[in-house]
Order: sequence, then C-alpha cells, then structure tokens
Amino acid sequence: LDVIRGVEPRVADAIANELADQREMLKLIASENYASPATLLAMGNWFSDKYAEGTAGRRFYAGCRNVDTVETLAAEHARTVFGADHAYVQPHSGIDANLVAFWAVLSQKVESPALARAGARQVNDLSEQDWAELRREFGNQRMLGMSLDAGGHLTHGFRPNISGKMFDQRSYGTDPATGLLDYDAVRAAAREFRPLIIVAGYSAYPRLVNFRLMREIADEVGATLMVDMAHFAGLVAGKVLTGDFDPVPHANIVTTTTHKSLRGPRGGMVLCDEALAEHVDRGCPMVLGGPLPHVMAAKAVALAEAARPEFRDYAQAIVDNSRALAEGLLTRGAKLVTGGTDNHLVLIDVSGYGLTGRQAEAALLDAGIVTNRNSVPQDPNGAWYTSGIRIGTPALTTRGLGTAEMDEIAGLIDTVLSGATAAPAKNGGTSKAHHVLDAAVAEQVAKRAADL
Ligand code: PLP
Repeated sequence: LDVIRGVEPRVADAIANELADQREMLKLIASENYASPATLLAMGNWFSDKYAEGTAGRRFYAGCRNVDTVETLAAEHARTVFGADHAYVQPHSGIDANLVAFWAVLSQKVESPALARAGARQVNDLSEQDWAELRREFGNQRMLGMSLDAGGHLTHGFRPNISGKMFDQRSYGTDPATGLLDYDAVRAAAREFRPLIIVAGYSAYPRLVNFRLMREIADEVGATLMVDMAHFAGLVAGKVLTGDFDPVPHANIVTTTTHKSLRGPRGGMVLCDEALAEHVDRGCPMVLGGPLPHVMAAKAVALAEAARPEFRDYAQAIVDNSRALAEGLLTRGAKLVTGGTDNHLVLIDVSGYGLTGRQAEAALLDAGIVTNRNSVPQDPNGAWYTSGIRIGTPALTTRGLGTAEMDEIAGLIDTVLSGATAAPAKNGGTSKAHHVLDAAVAEQVAKRAADL
C-alpha cells in the first residue's frame, strides 16, 4: 500500500478501507466471495501488461509463451473440475461470456449453414446479396430465457439489455402459487415460440433447476440449451449439484462467472461441446477485447483450488448454511420466496416487514449487514425499489461461519427489518426509498456483525 500511497494516497486509503469494511461487515451478497491470497496474488502482477489476442499457440502477438502456459492450465483445470469437453477462459466477465455464447451459437447455427449454401469459406467471400441475407437472418433469431423478476439475469433476454434487442425474445417465469419453475409452461412456450436458444440459469432463484428436463425441451424444438451457471458454479465444481442438476452433461453450452460461488478472480468462462468449440474460441477478438492474462493466471489458481477435495466440503457447507439461514428466518416469521432454499441463496420478501427492498437494503447496511435488494416474482415495486432482499452464503462460508452463526445472523436480520420503518414522504404518505432505524439497534447489530 505504501507504494500506491506514494502515487495517489486516496486510492491507498480506499483499498485499506475496503479491507476494513469486508472484515467488519457481514458480506451476504449472494454473488460475492473472498478469493484466496494465491488467487489475488496471481492477479496482481506483470501479466497485466501483456497483449495476447487469439488462443494459446495461435496468437496475433509475439512473446506469449507464458500467457499460453496460464491459459492452457486454466482451461485444463476447468475441463477437469467440470467434466467439460472444451473450456474457453478468456471472457472478462459473466456478461462477456454470455455474449460469446450467443455469438458462437449464431455462428454455428446461422452463419455456418449460410456459408455452406454459398460455397464460401468466410463471410468476406459472400456476395453482397448473400451477406445482406445473412445479416437479416442474424437479426431474426429467437431466444427463450427466464424472466428477470422470476430470477433470471438481464442477459437472458431482458428487453432493455442487448440480449433483448439482439434476439426476438420471450421469457418463462415461475408458478405464481409456488414460486417454482414450471417445466410444462417452459415446454409449451418453447413449442409455440421455437427459439434458437433456450437459456436456463438464474441470479435470484433459490431452488434447483432440472437441466435434463430443460435439454429434453430444447431437443424437442431444435433449440440450443445454454446454461448460465454464474451463481452456482461453485456448487457444480464442489459436486453438490450432480445428475439432473449438473448443467455440464446436459447443456450444449455453459457460461459462468469465476468470482461468485466458484471463489476465483472476477471473470467469466465458457464450457461447451466439441461442436461449438471452434466458434467459442473466436470470441476474442470478434466479441471480446484482448484477454486479461493476469486474470487467466488467477483463474488457473482458483480452479486448481476448486479441484481439491476440501472444495467439496466448502460447497456443501454453503448449502447447509443457506438452509440454516432460511430456517432461522422462517422461524422468526419472515416470508421467503418459494418458502426456502436448495442452493446458496435466499430471497426474502420484505413486504411482510412493511418495507421496500431498497429500504431494507439500506437499513441492513446501517447495521453492518451487506445485502442487495432484488425483485420478487410479479414485484409491485418494480426493479428499482423492489420488494425483496437477496442473501447468500458463499462469502461467510469462506470465512468459516457455520449453521449456528447462520441462525444468529437470521436473528440479526429479523431484528433490523422488524425495527425499520418506511420514512414519511415529503408529499405525505410513506417513502419507497428512505427508512428510519433506531441508532441504538443499528449500533448493537453492527457491533455483533463485526464480532462475527
Ligand atoms: N449471469 C448471471 C446469472 C449473473 O448473476 C451475473 C452477475 O450478476 C452475470 C451473468 C454477469 O456477470 P458479470 O457481472 O461478471 O458480467
């Protein structure tokens, strides 16, 4: 830090303060974790100075032998950990991994047949007419994904996102009565809509997805099944999600982040079958900017950690803790979407406390508990204020907390949410944004949060 302080002391201070915050507050954001020192160190070094467009052994730049080593190792570890045919470890983030996957499927299912029809090797060889036709075909493809308010991600076809504009999109949701995925409804939507891609996976669904069934549906309508396992990749790596619930044997293409439950550096990754490999590997420079060699080095380290037997214990502990947290909240009267959890996350419907998600998030932060607000299915408060709080256990499990502490944390959350009220709005009524929480309650909970 002293080296940084000599150049820009405010950055050094922000880094030190961030460490203090992450130590003193309870990090319950379901998509965050604590990467190991080995992973962090693999990321903070001279690899960051290197350009390496292309793939290992086939670069557009000279001098890439050491990058080749780390990229090859990261891909090897990824294939071993997930049992995948092919791994592409260059995406800079989860969204980038999804864009690469969309592009690869379009390339495989739209561009390759068009080239074959025209007897061309690449798009530059197409006549102007064939090229115009291909561009029209690209723009006419359909995607079916889980809706945002049911727990899907923005990139699964949400209209304001690029995915909702690239594709003619339709969403599937959850059963309003149970909050659970309704596979018959997904099948009916797929039969009617006949999408090119079906996207499964989620950011805020607290249950398991049956990927064998999703593949059956995709096969029936000739769609490619893409699974975005960004949130639960650590549970797949740790063999908690197996059989029908492991996406890798069932999906044609799997994308993930590396920094959530997988506990690696911030980044993304694509796993796929051999048929898609050549399309995926052209991700950089066709979709992505130059790869980040320092992050690929850190991915190799984190994936080597995920291959160890103790990672299985960690993954199981994430789920045990999540269940204990859900139980603790239910016993105290909280309302949970789907009534509980089978994975690493819990979605609290905070309308039962008379709060919006935004108020609940802010009140919890006052008390040293870091969460994020999240829509619940059919949310009356929309995506900004929301009615939910999403909490997850990957980070606190890394810190060694167990089920007894989870029950205590459920109590702390309940104390804060029960003690908080909506602030009066300027024009009468109550605000959706602001809250009131007794300072003594906030202080007392924050002190316990720091001790934990
Ligand atoms: N996919 C899912 C399911 C996610 O939950 C997220 C993160 O929020 C992403 C993709 C995007 O990841 P990133 O922020 O690394 O682009």
